[in-house]
Amino acid sequence: MLSYQHGYHAGNLADVHKHALLATMLGYLTAKDKPLSYIETHAGRGLYALDSEAAQKTGEAAQGIARVQKLGWFAPDHPYSRALAQTRADHGPNAYPGSPLLAAQLLRRIDNIHLAELHPQEFAALRETMAPHGGIFRQIDGLELALAITPPTPRRGLMLIDPSYEVKSDYDQIPKVIGQVARKWNVGIIALWYPILTSAAHLPMTATLSRTHPGALLHEVRFAPAREGHGMIGSGLFVLNPPWGLTDEARRLGQLFARLP
Ligand code: SAM
Repeated sequence: MLSYQHGYHAGNLADVHKHALLATMLGYLTAKDKPLSYIETHAGRGLYALDSEAAQKTGEAAQGIARVQKLGWFAPDHPYSRALAQTRADHGPNAYPGSPLLAAQLLRRIDNIHLAELHPQEFAALRETMAPHGGIFRQIDGLELALAITPPTPRRGLMLIDPSYEVKSDYDQIPKVIGQVARKWNVGIIALWYPILTSAAHLPMTATLSRTHPGALLHEVRFAPAREGHGMIGSGLFVLNPPWGLTDEARRLGQLFARLP
């Protein structure tokens, strides 16, 4: 049974890392006229309220997006800032976009969106949030979607894999699925997010991914745990076929994260 709910963590420093790099990639991809496919295997609910009880309880957004916006990390024309501004204009000043909504804010009518989310309540909320933006939403296993849908039409595009890692076998299964997807969709940009935990549970997975895909970008940032004893001390993004500009933005973000107290 799934118990993870992203509402407790939305807008935290890991989201800032993942969403800023996702927005950078989509900003680049949508600068060209050609349509693209956007696929998410673990979509979450798409929209979060940073004044909700869940967000207030952990305080992670206060240490995350609220803090870095005060520090001026993202210029107003950064694709992440544009998606944040659009979400607040549409849903109020405390709204924060999950990755599907962030993507929808940056994508165009010519692009295709495919989303999977397994948790019944998260899926119901996702469908409601995303209905005005179009796309195909399925309450199915995300890795099954990844295999079933590739190569997508149009072939140009990006897949975000953002599991909650509640099932420990995810760490073994994901490199295998990425290998299969990459063989079927060799032009696809495949981005995998993973937490950096005190247990270092990600290390065998990232070692396998780096060995199998030597040209991929593996970008990691570290930060102080959100509270004493909290296991997450950083955020990682693996990107196969990284688009132009991503390495520079990752380097810039890495320097900013390194300077955070
Ligand atoms: N990508 C979202 C974002 O950045 O806004 C956050 C996603 S959250 C980290 C992971 C989500 O995956 C949770 O909502 C969880 O219910 C869902 N999930 C867990 N196992 C899944 C599976 N096998 N297939 C699809 N979704 C799953």
